[in-house]
Amino acid sequence: MPSKWYLFLPVIVLLNILLYYISVEIKFIEEISIIIIVLFSFFYSLSIFPYRKVGAVITVLATLILVLNQSIGLGIYYIYSSPFTYGHGLSILNSNVKEFGSMLSTMPAIVLVYLFLFGFQYYVFSTFKGSVRNKFLSYFLASLWFLIPLGNLLLKGSNLMAVESRTAVFLRFTPLYNFRPMVHSLAEYEESKEINRNINIDYSKMVVGDDGVDLLVVLVGESARRQNMSLYGYERSTTPFQDAERSNMLFYKNMVSSAGITLLSVPMILSKMVPETYHEGKAQLNDNVFNLAKSVGYKSYWLSTQEKGSHYLSTVNNLVSFADSLVWMTGYDEVLLPEVANLVKSDRKKMTIFMHINGSHSNACDKYPKEFASFNNGISEIDCYDNSILYTDQLMGQLFTMLKDKNAAVIFLSDHAEKLVNGRFIHSDSKEGTEIPYYIWYGEGVNERLRLIDSVKALTSTNINYFQFARLLGVEGLNSVISDKVMYLRSDLSVVAYDSLD
Ligand SMILES: [Zn+2]
Repeated sequence: MPSKWYLFLPVIVLLNILLYYISVEIKFIEEISIIIIVLFSFFYSLSIFPYRKVGAVITVLATLILVLNQSIGLGIYYIYSSPFTYGHGLSILNSNVKEFGSMLSTMPAIVLVYLFLFGFQYYVFSTFKGSVRNKFLSYFLASLWFLIPLGNLLLKGSNLMAVESRTAVFLRFTPLYNFRPMVHSLAEYEESKEINRNINIDYSKMVVGDDGVDLLVVLVGESARRQNMSLYGYERSTTPFQDAERSNMLFYKNMVSSAGITLLSVPMILSKMVPETYHEGKAQLNDNVFNLAKSVGYKSYWLSTQEKGSHYLSTVNNLVSFADSLVWMTGYDEVLLPEVANLVKSDRKKMTIFMHINGSHSNACDKYPKEFASFNNGISEIDCYDNSILYTDQLMGQLFTMLKDKNAAVIFLSDHAEKLVNGRFIHSDSKEGTEIPYYIWYGEGVNERLRLIDSVKALTSTNINYFQFARLLGVEGLNSVISDKVMYLRSDLSVVAYDSLD
């Protein structure tokens, strides 16, 4: 019955493209083309299945699974008017699986849609048979829906290890694409339970002085390379406010990040985890700056302009949940300053404030207001990048003014650097991709014992941040985890000697 075959198949494919379109967050033409081929192949494989009885059972199961996938996307779109993100998956997992179910059950229209989707698709799959005569071509067509996701996994699986499990990479181009964000959220949910698992943190050798700073600000920058900072000798004057404070810093000339992407580097900056122990599990993230601060009577505040619901920040979000207060804001990075000013004005003692900014992340051109477009006579990507460094600098300038006469210190660093390739800045597991700024700045009220001013030349990794943080709170005698050889955690999750990087 070839005529009917050609009549219904396009309807089903179009219907599925529409459902894909409303369900998936980012869509490129390539991506949509691939999913069309996958869906076509999936329908085709059902239609040529040779065994009648087994075929009937398989067709029912396959249609049910297909409709389950479609229902997830449709349900999310119905409730949130947006594609299915891992954030939705998380909120369903965290609090309200039942709530979500009851929301859906009160919508008879959507139940009718599900019944229609099942009925219509089952009818087509069970009625029509494939019509490609050449057997080899027929089997080839029927296996594409499996071969394409497999190929994608083999090509991209290992590079993406840090941000995505193999299952999620595979699912991306299958008829079960809506399970991909589900896999992301399940992973974060499990990780959060693991991080919260109580491990015995050995603070027995800890000595707490009474001269810790009243306020410690930790500014975690984004994608800032020291090469583009005049503070580190760049010919363009991109950091005038920080240059002026150079003599008031513990200054690291040769600091490198322990990883090249935010998801891996920030957790190591904020905890005692080092690349060497990464594979021992996430429970070690329990020993982090927030818990350390709490143990010596400090309150911690996490202020961020980075996207809250991003899958690329999952471990960071799990870790910062240990802070006493969490604030996410949208806008240019300076939106965080009034929040800091309010806390400073409160004159509360024993506070740590973390600022996680967008800094110089690509696209750098949209990370600063127009009036900071000071450099605009070179390669535009580099101009934008330098302008973003300049913008962060004036933020630092305002912070220094705010804290100058206080018993306060600032740790400034970037989560990783960027590599400049053909005029473009990219994340990279390379020396250039990790050469970051790091310094500690002191307000006038800081105790002399803690006011360490120096210029450190030795190659150092951000693993020391946990210990510098502790030192400024007056804590000493922690068990050191810093080895002589600087190690590095690559994006494929392998651990290598830093020296071995390009
Ligand atoms: Zn980053």
